[in-house]
Amino acid sequence: MTDVAAATVAEQFTVLYGARPDGVWAAPGRVNLIGEYTDFNDGFVLPLALPHTALAAVRRRDDGVLRLHSADVDGGVVQLRADDLAPSADGGGGWAAYPAGVVWALREAGHAVGGADIHLTSTVPTGAGLSSSAALEVVTALALNDLYALGLSGARLAVVAQRAENAFVGVPCGIMDQTASACCAQGHALHLDTRDLTRRQVPFDLAAHGLELLVVDTRVKHALGDGAYAERREGCEAGARALGVRALRDVPHAGLARALTSLGDERTRRYVRHVVTENHRVERVIAHLDAGAPRAVGPLLTEGHTSLRDDLRVSCAELDLVVRTANAAGALGARMTGGGFGGSAIALVESAESDTITKSIEAAFESAGLTPPRVFPALPSPGALRLA
Ligand code: ADP
Ligand code: MG
Repeated sequence: MTDVAAATVAEQFTVLYGARPDGVWAAPGRVNLIGEYTDFNDGFVLPLALPHTALAAVRRRDDGVLRLHSADVDGGVVQLRADDLAPSADGGGGWAAYPAGVVWALREAGHAVGGADIHLTSTVPTGAGLSSSAALEVVTALALNDLYALGLSGARLAVVAQRAENAFVGVPCGIMDQTASACCAQGHALHLDTRDLTRRQVPFDLAAHGLELLVVDTRVKHALGDGAYAERREGCEAGARALGVRALRDVPHAGLARALTSLGDERTRRYVRHVVTENHRVERVIAHLDAGAPRAVGPLLTEGHTSLRDDLRVSCAELDLVVRTANAAGALGARMTGGGFGGSAIALVESAESDTITKSIEAAFESAGLTPPRVFPALPSPGALRLA
């Protein structure tokens, strides 16, 4: 399957640019198992790579010309000069800013990257909170790392890709998405400490346990989400200041009750409670996975959803419907994942019950008069790699 996809994208490259690519690379989208709204509090996240990937066929060129093409977007080849790349010039507009931003960020970091011909295609759903943007950045970074013999690790490439998205594309994302795409391993979730970027592969071999993780893309995105992220971030920072800690990560779970009584503001209390309990949930999930007990993770997912819904208030009717329906239909647990206000939810289910639960969710959306959701099972898949 992967070989076929790699051969296809190489063939498309050859037709498009009139020469064979030097290689083909892949980078996955991701879903976060637990650890939501923790990254800007120096906390923990636990993403896994999806089987859905961005593929890039790339040929190095030493004349400083950068040609970019996506099979998934109308509009032909975008041609730029590496020397002219600047954040304000936005990389030629739209989607091309993601790969162009990576070239810019590599050069900014002092790496001798010239031009390239790049042809991309991706199976990561866009705008569903599954990080199609990070997949695009990381696949570009990995290809250039190989073709220009930069010798950067996956974790370093992730930092470059994040800088591309923050400074060049202009999206203030954390480090989770790019690190997940670059560093995840098959059959594992990735425990990432967003303070010091230490990470560990945690066993999450769903198939071996007869389990599946259903991803439910609600296909809605509420405009409310636009300002909400910044508001939650500021609220959490205010909480940390009020408690006299560098970040909410530094409030121990055992000291939560006392911390909450010292806070006068109701909203701040809710935000602090979410972040502190969510970090604790990440640790509890990891303990269950390390103990070979993935089923025990289910209730913690649902607990996390309740916290996101009631304390942080970033869920929405469609996400709540997925969680309620999945749990009523026999899921081990479910929660919204990502920023909320639409996007995707996940449900941990017995493989044998996956179809029934999927149908229940689809039926619930139909009865509510909603757009049919996209539901698919995700097994923890490999991080970015060279295919050919
Ligand atoms: P997410 O990362 O959650 O999918 P974003 O808004 O961060 O959502 O990124 C989506 C954007 O990434 C798209 O609007 C597009 O500009 C770019 N993108 C993703 N996949 C592709 C693709 N296959 N071809 C071209 N651009 C893509
Ligand atoms: Mg994104």
